[in-house]
Amino acid sequence: MAAEVRPRLTVLSGPSGVGKSTVVAHMRKVHPEVWLSVSATTRKPRPGERHGVQYFFVGDEEFDKLVANGELLEWAEFAGNRYGTPRRAVQERLEAGEPVLLEIDLQGARQVKESMPDSQLVFLAPPSWDELVRRLTGRGTEAPDVIERRLAAAKVELAAEREFDTTLVNTSVEDVARELLALMEVV
Ligand code: 5GP
Repeated sequence: MAAEVRPRLTVLSGPSGVGKSTVVAHMRKVHPEVWLSVSATTRKPRPGERHGVQYFFVGDEEFDKLVANGELLEWAEFAGNRYGTPRRAVQERLEAGEPVLLEIDLQGARQVKESMPDSQLVFLAPPSWDELVRRLTGRGTEAPDVIERRLAAAKVELAAEREFDTTLVNTSVEDVARELLALMEVV
């Protein structure tokens, strides 16, 4: 009798600025059938973002309610806004036997590992420290103290790599997306 293969929850995380959302966007273009959890956030939508697509945009009170009712699998505050993963949709997909992907920050990844130890934590790392500095400083329009703060935060975030099951180095979006799909056993 074949052993039942239970699809796992895969969490993609990593330092801010490393390119997580670009990797996920590419992966979904190639494999639109892969289900990605839609988070709730108190952040205001950016131009082009739609409710229920990129995020469920909620107010502070509504977010409080989601937390109080235990409806979030994890949640965290990031850069002044709250973000959380609705629990039910994730559970339904896993029960239906489908692989599930979360793209969340490091604090959230730690909470998922705690509550669902079976989950697979994937760390997206920059090709090098210099490359991350280049990405974080962007076009050089930010004040030096802001850049310093972001770089200090990035150092702490990079040290989290050892808490993860796997590291993927973001050398090419296509390669990382392919590696991620392989880890999820989609291809
Ligand atoms: P952004 O505001 O740029 O869309 O996202 C900011 C950060 O929040 C990113 O690092 C993203 O991965 C993270 N994030 C998005 N959704 C969630 C979530 O549901 N939970 C947690 N913990 N982080 C999230």
